Amino acid sequence: MGASAGEPVIGLEVHVQLRTEEKLFCADSTAFGADPNTHVCPVCLGLPGALPVLNSDAVELALRTALALGCTIHETSIFARKNYFYPDLPKGYQVSQFERPLATDGRFTVDREDGEELSVRIRRIHMEEDAGKSIHDRFPSATAVDLNRTGVPLVEIVTEPDLGSPEDTRAFLQALKRHLEYLDVSDCNMEEGSLRVDANVSVRPGSGQELGTKTELKNLNSFSGVEKALRQEVERQRRIVSEGGEVEHETLLWDAGRSEIRTMRSKEESHDYRYFPDPDLPPLVVDPARAEEVRRGLPEPPRERKRRFVTQYGLPEYDAGVLTGSRALAHFFEDAVREVGDPKAASNWVMGPVLQEANQRELEMADFPLTAESLAQVVELVEEGTVSHRVGRQVLGRVLDTGRSPREVVEEEGLAQVSDASALEEWVSQVLSGHPDEVERYRAGEEKLLGFFVGQIMRLSQGRADPKEANRVVREALQRQGA
Ligand SMILES: [Zn+2]
Repeated sequence: MGASAGEPVIGLEVHVQLRTEEKLFCADSTAFGADPNTHVCPVCLGLPGALPVLNSDAVELALRTALALGCTIHETSIFARKNYFYPDLPKGYQVSQFERPLATDGRFTVDREDGEELSVRIRRIHMEEDAGKSIHDRFPSATAVDLNRTGVPLVEIVTEPDLGSPEDTRAFLQALKRHLEYLDVSDCNMEEGSLRVDANVSVRPGSGQELGTKTELKNLNSFSGVEKALRQEVERQRRIVSEGGEVEHETLLWDAGRSEIRTMRSKEESHDYRYFPDPDLPPLVVDPARAEEVRRGLPEPPRERKRRFVTQYGLPEYDAGVLTGSRALAHFFEDAVREVGDPKAASNWVMGPVLQEANQRELEMADFPLTAESLAQVVELVEEGTVSHRVGRQVLGRVLDTGRSPREVVEEEGLAQVSDASALEEWVSQVLSGHPDEVERYRAGEEKLLGFFVGQIMRLSQGRADPKEANRVVREALQRQGA
């Protein structure tokens, strides 16, 4: 790699909330949005005498995450106390894993838009509990604390500093999010805090492998925020270096509202967390056979699925990328292929009308009420000529509005294409008598007006006229009139 001066070097710490019903060490609900301080108990409040019990579902999801990212699972890992004082941390410490994490040495590879591979090493993945939440806008001049989130299970994914630009970092995170969603380990909802990102940033001072002083950038809670904040920070460090100054080791906070970086604490204020093994929790022991079982049960990851769509269905790379954008969409497409029979037709319908309907209705594919059977029936109606392509799209919308089958919609709303001669004749004569000037021009040799007449017939018939038949009938009528 030809490293040059000023080149950004970025590593990430990604906190992912695991999708469990209960907290990591107690049976409180993890549901988002409850009234403040209603999902709490002696364990997560740290009351004297309360003892934690590890949630095995959380371990399962953490294992799935680590294995899907190619990590080595350690048979024994240790929960440690990370000690610090903060109002949203009732115990005075956070249970995390420090010297002996659950998993290490993974790798995650992403397809970049330019076709290059972006391969990032995963240094470690460990389990920990979340802290509570300080709320600054509830009472004037006072801070409120909500402890519902205290003790919610997280994994922290720590990468090596392998990312070379803000754009790559964004691409990496987007692919990671999709990967985790496919694994069903987290809902990865950034707005609700289920996926939170901190970044370590430095710029290379020279052209060698030596690294500059890094800063830690916190609170990167949207993809665009990640990219914007990193761009600003890289520029800031480059400016300091080019002016002969030195970058200070500090922790910075991204203020998304103002799109600016603020200093949170300098090195002098940095914490000593006095980590030590939690005496209330035994070591976490993972039987290698269990890890192997989890590994075998992993679903097909999005990147592999995309490749398979290209080879198995002969789809263009781009289409395969769109159709594997979420697991629900990929499932729907494969169901549609089975029902429709033709992968190209299925992908045209899914990428076009189906995604448009989903967007218009602001529905995720996971909540989209159309079945592959219904879609196949619409495609069939179009292919057998019962409805035009345009009306087919309309039928799709009505199926979603009414919950009826496509054939019922066509029948009940009289949408079937009309090739019946008398109905067509009626529409044709209405259109011709309504446009005497155009008829005149057509007779004078302006034959391209034929398309105009057919268009008017389609409009008058609300799309039900069979365009081929309409074309034939209107041409005959004009010839008759001209004779
Ligand atoms: Zn609790």
